[in-house]
Amino acid sequence: MKVLVINSGSSSLKYELFEMRQRTSLARGLLERIGEPGSRLLHHGRDSAGQADELVREQPVPDHRAALRLVQTVLHQTGAIADSAELLGIGHRVVHGGEAFQQPTLINQRVLEAIRRQIPLAPLHNPANLLGIEVALAEYAHVPQVAVFDTAFHHTLPPHAWHYALPAELYQRHGIRRYGFHGTSHQYVSGRAAEILGRPLIELNLIVLHLGNGASATAVRGGRSVDTSMGFTPLEGLMMGTRCGDLDPAVIFFLTRDAGLSIDQIDALLNKDSGLRGVCGANDMREVLRRAAAGDPRAQLAVEMYCYRVKKYVGAYMAALGHVDAIVFTAGIGENSAEVRAGSCRDLDGLGISLDPARNASSSGGPRAIHSDGSRVQVLVVPTDEELEIAAQTVACIQAASDAPGAPGAPDAPRQPGARGEAGEVRGER
Ligand code: ADP
Repeated sequence: MKVLVINSGSSSLKYELFEMRQRTSLARGLLERIGEPGSRLLHHGRDSAGQADELVREQPVPDHRAALRLVQTVLHQTGAIADSAELLGIGHRVVHGGEAFQQPTLINQRVLEAIRRQIPLAPLHNPANLLGIEVALAEYAHVPQVAVFDTAFHHTLPPHAWHYALPAELYQRHGIRRYGFHGTSHQYVSGRAAEILGRPLIELNLIVLHLGNGASATAVRGGRSVDTSMGFTPLEGLMMGTRCGDLDPAVIFFLTRDAGLSIDQIDALLNKDSGLRGVCGANDMREVLRRAAAGDPRAQLAVEMYCYRVKKYVGAYMAALGHVDAIVFTAGIGENSAEVRAGSCRDLDGLGISLDPARNASSSGGPRAIHSDGSRVQVLVVPTDEELEIAAQTVACIQAASDAPGAPGAPDAPRQPGARGEAGEVRGER
């Protein structure tokens, strides 16, 4: 039961192949610089003796179709997929599902068009995701394909959490609201946290802190997202590698009127040149921590600001949830930086959160508890695996559709306006 997961970017194609009976990864890779000079594929798989093996291909890759063909060839040559009939399905990561997609959805022509209609909400990401879907549909016409949306996990946000305090017509006409992102990661990590805690997810209140290049915090009650820090776009919320996170919107008026910047310049400034990079000149947390340890005051300030912002969201989500069972750190920074975890939980004993320094400093790569014995709130580190979550949701979606051929989500099922998970129709107030 093999599932291929595809994450298609504008000039890159990331993939991972799973055997879903054992939930194991068989092969993964990244093809970069599609349509540019210097295209390069780095593939990790297994050799004929089952040992981990790495392979590099450097050759011209003019477009996404050529990219997928190269990936197919490598998967075939390495024996990972002998025949496409081995594939149960293909799962595609799609960044923005808007309000139209509230769950993983089997892809057909109508779904493709509905994803296309979400492009104004994610003009940088959805077109690239669509390209990946289109070439995969052409190359694997007989394999069921599923779109898994970064936004879908957050469809359970209550209206008071997703509305902005703006004139109602901005939501009604333009869909301006909080959508939230990193949903597959928050969902996966919540489920794993429940397994580690040995309690049903439905009974747990969690705060999940996904701290990678992008960063977001989510309040999860009983397995459902009830608030999240990213908003209409991934720019809102925590301080990130290159994004500013929360900011007084009046800064934008000032930059336009007084500093003479164009809207495009401000867009680039807030998304690409702010966050850690804006404050200290480096966006990679490892580099920032190295500089801070060497005494660079700007890097020290950047780390302080980063942790302080995480801590404020922890406090806010404790208030939102009322009671919190566990705080869960994940993604590159959350999984690897004891210093950022310690800074984010510093002086929170009054809220029942205290870390055990030795447990926090442990460099074990696996899931682990890092709170002290007396901490009322448990604090966990749980490695995320968005690709595995996409593969699992792909299997569930395909099986649900085949178990109930007339059910919503089945490729040719009749669709009722406003039905949960329906593509192309907007629910609620819009
Ligand atoms: P993405 O959001 O691109 O998936 P990741 O989840 O891989 O990103 O996170 C990347 C971030 O994790 C970078 O800022 C990187 O510096 C940071 N990171 C990775 N390893 C460490 C480490 N050992 N200590 C501190 N930060 C780390």
